[in-house]
Amino acid sequence: MRLRNITGSREMIAESDFVVHEPKLLKGKWKARFENDHPIYIEIGMGKGRFIMDSARANPDINYIGIEKYSAVLLRAIQKMEEDPLPNVILIRMDAEEITDVFDKGEIDRIYLNFSDPWPKDRHAKRRLPSGAFLKRYDEILKTGGTIEFKTDNRELFDFAVEELETSPFKAERITYDLHNDPDMMIGNIMTEYEEKFSSKGNPICKYELVRR
Ligand code: SAM
Repeated sequence: MRLRNITGSREMIAESDFVVHEPKLLKGKWKARFENDHPIYIEIGMGKGRFIMDSARANPDINYIGIEKYSAVLLRAIQKMEEDPLPNVILIRMDAEEITDVFDKGEIDRIYLNFSDPWPKDRHAKRRLPSGAFLKRYDEILKTGGTIEFKTDNRELFDFAVEELETSPFKAERITYDLHNDPDMMIGNIMTEYEEKFSSKGNPICKYELVRR
């Protein structure tokens, strides 16, 4: 995503009411922040926010938190929120490596990973968001029976992600290697920006849905 250097993006984020600026202070208190008892779903690496905002519009009784590492990308999501503010969406700028400092044990009901960066070099495998190292972090913050949904058109990354499940506390409930031709798994599918881009080029989309044992 080539949006990393928009001048002043950090300052604009600092002024936004849609962003939680000190997320570690809300560890264990996210439901209070939303002022309701609804389930909390997070998207890690949300990019410009299309998926999380469309999901939030379709499911007003679910709270959504969008996490994005880069200010200039997050800014695009903030601009979308300014056009259509949604009470059930909060945005955070942070690196997902810190996720256990921000969410308490069992605080999260579902994690979405959509078109995560592939980090193709072996020495960077731990940075891949569906890696075993990250699954351990997700295990800490998801409630029992909590779920992870991962979509990508990158077959190598997907094969890696499936292999990582063997030693993880997660069980795959459903897997497809061609989501858009899988009528059952397409029910309720909400497209991400990358999904639209790559599926329109004819790339098959892989998806798994995991449950925490
Ligand atoms: N999810 C969106 C979609 O499907 O259209 C965007 C996909 S884009 C390829 C991946 C996004 O994840 C980028 O915006 C990137 O900055 C973000 N990202 C990558 N690693 C991250 C990390 N460790 N923590 C938070 N965000 C991260």
